[in-house]
Amino acid sequence: MAVLLLAEWNKDGLAVETARAYSAAQKLHMPIDVLLIGNAPAALRRAARRLPALRRLLLAETQAAPKAQQEALEHGLAEPVAALLASMAAAYTVFMAAATSYGKNIMPRLAGLLQVAQISDIIAVPAPDTFKRPIYAGNVIETVRALADKKVVTVRASAFPLPAMAETEQGAEEKLVLPQDLPVPTRFIDEKGDKKEGEPGLGTAKIIVSGGRGFGTAENFKNLLEPLAAKLPAAIGASRAAVDAGFAPNDRQIGQTGRVVSPDLYIAIGLSGAVQHLAGMMDSRVIVAINKDAEAPIFQVADYGLVGDLFEIIPALIKKLG
Ligand SMILES: Cc1cc2nc3c(=O)[nH]c(=O)nc-3n(C[C@H](O)[C@H](O)[C@H](O)COP(=O)(O)OP(=O)(O)OC[C@H]3O[C@@H](n4cnc5c(N)ncnc54)[C@H](O)[C@@H]3O)c2cc1C
Repeated sequence: MAVLLLAEWNKDGLAVETARAYSAAQKLHMPIDVLLIGNAPAALRRAARRLPALRRLLLAETQAAPKAQQEALEHGLAEPVAALLASMAAAYTVFMAAATSYGKNIMPRLAGLLQVAQISDIIAVPAPDTFKRPIYAGNVIETVRALADKKVVTVRASAFPLPAMAETEQGAEEKLVLPQDLPVPTRFIDEKGDKKEGEPGLGTAKIIVSGGRGFGTAENFKNLLEPLAAKLPAAIGASRAAVDAGFAPNDRQIGQTGRVVSPDLYIAIGLSGAVQHLAGMMDSRVIVAINKDAEAPIFQVADYGLVGDLFEIIPALIKKLG
């Protein structure tokens, strides 16, 4: 009985969502192995080994793999990564990943390969075979008891704390021998994002400023939100209406069908607070709403509300912030 946690990482380190998912894995009271795919630098491996009570850090290094397989694994394409995890099925009871785009892409395919139902987006682990998860945009919390021998679980990272890292490196580091026959039916072409140098990511930002349809145009969204975000400093989020209107790219969307975030401060500007949006930001510690409509539902969840025109309030805020 052991847990395998699929890690996400980049040159800056282990993803904060992976570290939080590790806290969820600890609730299962089983040995935990963490899998790093790709050629992770030594500093990152040392940092990952400080996850408390880690049993093993497994390294799926790709430099010796055929080029197509190497690229597919390093870019997290679902088919080879899920097949790699499935090839390790005999050794694990629970396969876990954070419910990020990465985890949500891979784990359902693994569940399919193992012929079990995935347990998605868990927010609590009351017992090692029992999980709580939100449904209906967070309006109902479902408790699921999973009886299958193998469990495939994705974790809502914002629901779990960061683990207290150990003083010293834990467990052992072990290199995996990659299976020869990992499928690579798709190719990685390109990845584009609009994140500015130095801007905090939505997953790690302590402050998020989020804009909605009220901005009217993509130019207004950019010209008002970017300087405000730079002053705070904050990451920029968006409602689905803002994303659909082309004000912001998809990966900025907060909500039921977007990202779930829990910053210390969430500033919602020119967005109404539809239930699907609230599903992605309700765990924020302090919520501030700026909206010209005093009846907007966002004010019902806001700790502080400012009724007024965003085109006057944002420039005034930027000025105040110096
Ligand atoms: C299955 C499903 C999934 C969905 N998933 C998501 C999701 O993940 N995330 C999400 O956000 N939505 C989601 N939606 C859409 C959601 O229902 C809403 O349509 C959307 O959130 C509305 O975006 P908005 O608040 O920006 O726009 P609106 O509801 O149009 O609100 C705009 C707000 O701006 C205010 N405003 C206008 N002008 C100004 C001004 N000058 N100054 C200040 N305030 C101003 C208005 O008073 C209004 O409250 C989903 C819907 C469905 C059906």
